[in-house]
Amino acid sequence: MLRLYTHSDCLQHDPGHGHAEQPARLSAVLNALDRDRYAALDRIEAPCATREQLLRVHGARHVARILDHVPEPGGIDRLDEDTVMSTGSAQAALRAAGAVVAAVDAVVNGASQRAFCAVRPPGHHATADRAMGFCLFNNIAVAAAHALAVHGLKRIAIADFDVHHGNGTQAIFEHERRVLFVSSHQLPLYPDTGREDECGLGNIVNRGLSPGAGSHEFRELWDGVLLPRMRAFKPQLVLVSAGFDAHRNDPLADIRLGQEDYAWITERLVELARTHAEGRLVSTLEGGYDLTALAESAAAHVDELMTG
Ligand SMILES: [Zn+2]
Repeated sequence: MLRLYTHSDCLQHDPGHGHAEQPARLSAVLNALDRDRYAALDRIEAPCATREQLLRVHGARHVARILDHVPEPGGIDRLDEDTVMSTGSAQAALRAAGAVVAAVDAVVNGASQRAFCAVRPPGHHATADRAMGFCLFNNIAVAAAHALAVHGLKRIAIADFDVHHGNGTQAIFEHERRVLFVSSHQLPLYPDTGREDECGLGNIVNRGLSPGAGSHEFRELWDGVLLPRMRAFKPQLVLVSAGFDAHRNDPLADIRLGQEDYAWITERLVELARTHAEGRLVSTLEGGYDLTALAESAAAHVDELMTG
């Protein structure tokens, strides 16, 4: 059984006309998951994250900056060059982080084996103190910290296959041995971190893909390095930063994956979770900016999460 966490509030974060991280991204994913074959999905309204949950990974000033300064209707608040808040952004960000926390509760408590969070804004660039790269709160980091603090887990693996490096997730956990972070991403590319020599306490594993790389290089990195490191760690819970912007049609990067590659990596992660983590896997949407490629890739991901 696969749970799908989402909320209509996540459509209300509006960075403005022409912005790549648009509400239509989430609509495209949800429309794709509206087909008959997804009738069995267990659909859950995402709750809001609490301040206490956010404060496990974010500084008080950052949390207050997002939650206590909501722009007036029609107004826009620019946090950095490409990260913007509208009236609905704080509420969307609370639902996005809250979804992943609730999904962790569900898989750890046994209510569901796996979950996918169809939410936005994305999270993996947000650091403890700073919104950046379209991200306000680091949804997956908030959820991992929740699993450590509330469920007492001792080994959590985060797999990040978004085409951009999850600099925020890395920075939050680089001194936390209970969390393993593995990432494939294009280099060079925003945010220009994620070199191999960034390894934290040995719990950070980065591998870059050169512009133009495709399915072969991607699968080689995961089969040769990233999945073996995850297996050796024997995680009790697998979390996935599922960005679909390494697709060949994505406008923000130059990697040439197809939806079959997303099915492939998902199947591998499901199998790994089954072997080591009692099947427990929570995935959350990060990037993906070509609406058709995003919808098809997310659907391929969900297909494997349902049946894998
Ligand atoms: Zn991305």
